Formats: sequence, C-alpha cells, structure tokens
Amino acid sequence: MFNHILESEHSLPVRRESDLVVAGGGPAGFSAALSAARSGVSVTLIELGGALGGVWTQGLLSYILDAHGKSGILDEIVNELKDIQGYLHTPHPPNGSSYIGDSDWTYDSEAMKFVLEKLAKSANIHIEYHSRVVNAFVKDRLITHVVIENNSGRGAIAAKQFIDATGNGDLGFFAGASYEVGHPQSGEVQPATLVAIISGFPEGMQNTLQGDAKIALHQKFASYGSELSYRRPVFVRLPHPSLAAVFLNHQYSVSHDDNSGITQATIEAREEVFKAIENIRKDPEWSQARVVQTANFIGLREGRRLNGLYKLSVSDLQNGAKFEDAICLVHLPVDLHSVNKKDEKAAGEKKETSYNAGLTAKPYQIPGRSLVSSDVDNLMMAGRCVSGDFYAHASYRVTGNSVPMGEAAGFIAAKSAIQKVNPGQYLGQNPGEITAEMASRGYLL
Ligand SMILES: Cc1cc2nc3c(=O)[nH]c(=O)nc-3n(C[C@H](O)[C@H](O)[C@H](O)COP(=O)(O)OP(=O)(O)OC[C@H]3O[C@@H](n4cnc5c(N)ncnc54)[C@H](O)[C@@H]3O)c2cc1C
Repeated sequence: MFNHILESEHSLPVRRESDLVVAGGGPAGFSAALSAARSGVSVTLIELGGALGGVWTQGLLSYILDAHGKSGILDEIVNELKDIQGYLHTPHPPNGSSYIGDSDWTYDSEAMKFVLEKLAKSANIHIEYHSRVVNAFVKDRLITHVVIENNSGRGAIAAKQFIDATGNGDLGFFAGASYEVGHPQSGEVQPATLVAIISGFPEGMQNTLQGDAKIALHQKFASYGSELSYRRPVFVRLPHPSLAAVFLNHQYSVSHDDNSGITQATIEAREEVFKAIENIRKDPEWSQARVVQTANFIGLREGRRLNGLYKLSVSDLQNGAKFEDAICLVHLPVDLHSVNKKDEKAAGEKKETSYNAGLTAKPYQIPGRSLVSSDVDNLMMAGRCVSGDFYAHASYRVTGNSVPMGEAAGFIAAKSAIQKVNPGQYLGQNPGEITAEMASRGYLL
C-alpha cells in the first residue's frame, strides 16, 4: 500500500453556470438533458467519452430491452433511427414469464451516436465531451458546483439542480450521498461483459434470446475449443444485415471503483472474444467470422445504487407496486446474471442459482421519489444508479427503463429550478403531476 501525498490548494476556474448539470450522457443522462432543456432550462451535459449513448454506443449494447409501453423520447429515437436504416424490430419470444417483450429492438451504434447528437443539438444542450466529474462542492445539503477534468484542465460548473446519470453514481458519491452496492449479505455483483460486433456468421443464424438457443450456442463454441465464460451467450442481428452483436463473456467480481480490476477484466474479455471467433472459424459455416469491433469499455451491470426518498424493493416487484408519483411501468422480471463461476455453471445446466430461486415479478411502477437523493436536496438520479435493492435493480436497470427515468428526472429537475424548490419539494407540492406528464407523453402506466 502507498502512503498519501498532500495535493496543494489551488483555485479553480468556474467555467459555466447552468440551471441544470447532468453528469453522464448514457441513455438516462441523454434523456434527462433533452427533457429538461425542452422544459425551458439551460442544461450542461458532462460526458466522459466522445459520444452520447453510454452503454448504447461506447458499450455497443445494440439491444433495447423492456421498451413495451415506453413512448416519449424512446419513440423519437426509434423514428430517427428508422429514417437512417438504423433500427430493427426484434421480438423477444414469449417465455412464460410476466415479461412482455414484443417491443424489443436492435440498432446500429454509429446511427445511435448521430441520432442522439441531432436531438441534443435541436434542444440547445451544452455538451462537454471527454470530461469526467471528479468532485462536487456541497453546502447545507446542496451541491453548488461539480468539478470536471478535461482537455481544458480542471474546472468547476455551477448549477441549481444536478442529475447523476453516470451509471456508477459517481456524482452522488463525490457529493457524499449514501449508497448500496451488490448483494446485501455477500456484496457480490453481477458480472461484466465486453460486447462485440461480428460479421461472417451463417446467413440463416437466428438470435439467441432464450435459454435453449443460448445453451446451444455455448455448445457450438465449446465444440470448437472455446468454453465461453458466459454459459448463455447472446447473439443478436443488427439492422446492418451483415453485422451482429455478441455477448460472450462474464467477468466476475469486477467492482465499479477498482480501476486495475476493470482494466484486467477488459483485457481478459477482449482476448476471450478474439479467441472464440478465431476458434469458431473451424466450422465451415462460420469460416468467414470476424470481430469488427469491441466496446470502448467493458459493461458493468452494477455500480452504486444511491439512496433515494423511496427505495424500490423486491417486494414491490412481487406485488406489482403502484405509486401516485409513477413515471413508467417495468415489465422485465428479475434478470440476475450469475454472480460467480459456480452459479454460472448451474445456469448453463438450467439449475437454480444462489440468488434467483423462486423470484417472480408482476409489472410494477417506478416512483419519481426513487430518482431523488435522500441525502443531497438538489440531486436526482437516473438510470443504473437510482434507489433500489439488489433484486429490484436487476429488473429496472435495462435501457427501456433508463430512458423514462431520465425523461422524468429531467422534467422534475427543470420544474424544480423554475419554481425555485428542490425535487423532493416539487413532488410533494405537485402530487400526481409527473405521472400525468409521463402519461401525456404516451407512457403506459
Ligand atoms: C453487459 C451488459 C449487458 C446489458 N444488456 C442489456 C440489454 O440487452 N438491453 C438493455 O436494454 N439493457 C441492457 N443492459 C443494461 C443497460 O445497459 C444499463 O443498465 C444502462 O446502460 C443504464 O443506462 P445509464 O444511462 O444509467 O448508464 P450508462 O449507459 O452506463 O451511461 C453512463 C454514462 O456516464 C458516463 N460517465 C460515467 N462516469 C462519469 C463521470 N464520472 N463523469 C462524466 N461522465 C461519466 C459514461 O461514459 C456513460 O456515457 C446491459 C448492461 C450491461 C453492462
């Protein structure tokens, strides 16, 4: 272990002032920024990468789950993608669970980058790419500034309201907000996966979206020498007819705050993907298979879950909970990936794993209060880092829900800035308004 050294005190330039700062430009942060800007406030969006979309684009996710009944910004994105041939409807086969998957779809990640920038530009959102939020100043339970680092150096941005859409809850952490990570007893987290785009697969190859098809694909790779670390690998065809996205690996115990661990997992995962595609070329039908691209960053399914005014729990899922401040309806059941190799082996053999035994969910609503920090009064969350327990997170975390979470958070933050209140006060003083707003945008509740 190294000792600490003291960083000298220095003044920081305040580079901008906005009504709202959104940290993170993934599905949730983009939607939050667009929704807020359209509600009449000035918005600065701070994004670590060089594109909007987060896991959608830099993570090459390619597949939108739980889009059923989601309208609003998600519909706009679909229409824009269709205009440039970047959208493919991909029905999820019925699987006997409560999941209604008839609206799942894939997209081309480059088309997605372009569409998101086009929409952001139309709403005058100020974007700062290549910028990482590295700190926050807090006074009397209110964030006054975030600190960012980028090509211009280190600087501060002031705002009235803030939304953490960093996935891992970085802004909340820097602001001192409380949070949870992983399973409540063991602390274990879902595995990380490096998504890849491939070409040269057999012409008639079908998507692997259900257990049997996934296990068959695993066996296919195994028969050519690759025992994939993900026993239920995913293959989905993309709008570009010669491309598919594949999820082939599981890296275990990768923590959102262990940079060396994330780096090591990325290198191992990339090696696994390249070896698997090289090996499967021995199959005559796969002889032309190539890795076209691997994601810029490995996808972490879990990071910090910041505590909110309401914490969604597994019992809410089991009871199909409804709320007076509902923002959308979630259909996806508890979709827990194995948290260790032993569980993964069981999953590959269609056995129950440690944590998913007997868990069922009915469609349930997400309340606006789960997007409002319980510790920092002008901080909201959207996407992966909202307030919920380990099991609830495994259901609501997918991007069909990240968009309405962002859309609702952006609206609430904008109203709060305009009315000079904080989001918790806004929700208390305007009961039902956010639900009516989301319904008016076409969301099924
Ligand atoms: C491997 C994997 C497979 C998945 N499969 C599916 C699927 O098939 N379908 C589906 O719909 N969902 C799926 N999900 C879930 C889904 O991708 C995420 O839960 C979703 O992306 C959450 O959106 P988000 O906007 O909260 O986070 P992200 O997409 O992670 O976006 C966060 C953004 O914040 C930026 N950022 C992070 N830290 C900072 C910082 N300190 N300062 C500035 N910017 C920062 C990042 O660069 C990123 O752009 C999957 C997730 C993973 C990891």
